[in-house]
Amino acid sequence: MDLSTLFSANVLLLSIFAICFLAISLQTHPRTHWLSWAAANTLLALALICFAVRSMLPPLAAYLLPNTLLLLGFGCHWHAARLLADMPSKISNVVAPAFAYVIAASCAYLLSDYALAYLAANVVLMLLSVATITVYASKPLRGLISSTGLILGFFFLAAEGVLRTIHGFVSVGSQEPFMIDNQSADIHLMCSLVFVSLTGAFSLALSFELMADRNREDARRDPLTGAFNRREFQARLETILKDTRKDDFGLVHFDLDHFKQVNDRFGHAAGDEALVRVCSEVKAHLRQHDCFARLGGEEFAVLLPSISRENAYRVAERLRECIAGLQFEFAPRDFNVTASAGVYHGNGGELPSDELLKTVDQSLYQSKRTGRNRISIVEPVSGAAPS
Ligand code: GH3
Ligand code: MG
Ligand code: MG
Repeated sequence: MDLSTLFSANVLLLSIFAICFLAISLQTHPRTHWLSWAAANTLLALALICFAVRSMLPPLAAYLLPNTLLLLGFGCHWHAARLLADMPSKISNVVAPAFAYVIAASCAYLLSDYALAYLAANVVLMLLSVATITVYASKPLRGLISSTGLILGFFFLAAEGVLRTIHGFVSVGSQEPFMIDNQSADIHLMCSLVFVSLTGAFSLALSFELMADRNREDARRDPLTGAFNRREFQARLETILKDTRKDDFGLVHFDLDHFKQVNDRFGHAAGDEALVRVCSEVKAHLRQHDCFARLGGEEFAVLLPSISRENAYRVAERLRECIAGLQFEFAPRDFNVTASAGVYHGNGGELPSDELLKTVDQSLYQSKRTGRNRISIVEPVSGAAPS
């Protein structure tokens, strides 16, 4: 392929991705990383156009503009990656690397030492690539398939940068400051095509992968309290019941007592606050692999996998005590919210999940009938086999 075809292919691909990112940014929230990707692709396309037509530009612009635009583009890539990873990022992240290059290139211009400008551009580009790889390799992006694709893209860019720098000094002697020199422009432009395609496609894939993750998480959580919802709880209970190892587990089902009065006395917002507080305290008392869910209203359940009978009852009692001991900013000090619970321990026997929940619910209502603020233990029933 001749050089002008390679330049055109790169500019076309960059422009298509820039338009695509810009269009998505109009439809989504948050949109800043999309805008930053659109800016990155636009700046890279402009940089390549400047390289291609540099003989027509005024000397100083021809000297500084191509590499500066290129580094601003890669600065935008870094900025976008940080925004996507929820890391703090300012516009200075975009400008600082290009600014460092301009300073170095200006010194090189005064000294008429173009090798210095060439080296500065390549070093800044490699540092930006490494910084961007570090972001894609960090939480919460680490391990996602598309982050790995982006890491590969930037690794390819950094590796090409190292080879280009060595080649520039060994064979060309770096008579010019440009990262794309005349002797090996076709190879650099082919590499650029690979980089642009990889990063464009995987940037799109990464955003949608993150969006799918977020939607999956939202679909199993209660929006008010952040606890799991009934659907997730039931799915986990069914998994435990199907488990062929049939480890004993605990199931605590509790309901807040006279909660309607909290709303009536202090207002619905105070009721919401109490629900959120109860949930955060309960979560703090559980192990990481326990499942705590809001089944509805002021009704909750805790699944305690692989636990002894004694410990299951102890956890239930500790949760009851912890809720009864809570104090709320909206209420006087002598005001308490209490909970009544039903507790099951065993391996589930042959009972389906909804039957098991019904059985525990009956124990919960026994706690309500016998005075509230207490736990009741499920008696052995046919089919279910408390250990
Ligand atoms: P009991 O001890 O018999 O369980 O009495 P209770 O008042 O807790 O039970 P009831 O079923 O009569 O009322 C439940 C109350 O919980 C009524 C409802 O307003 C309140 N509630 C349910 N969900 C929410 C919520 O998301 N926010 C608030 N603020 N209140 C809620
Ligand atoms: Mg209640
Ligand atoms: Mg209730």
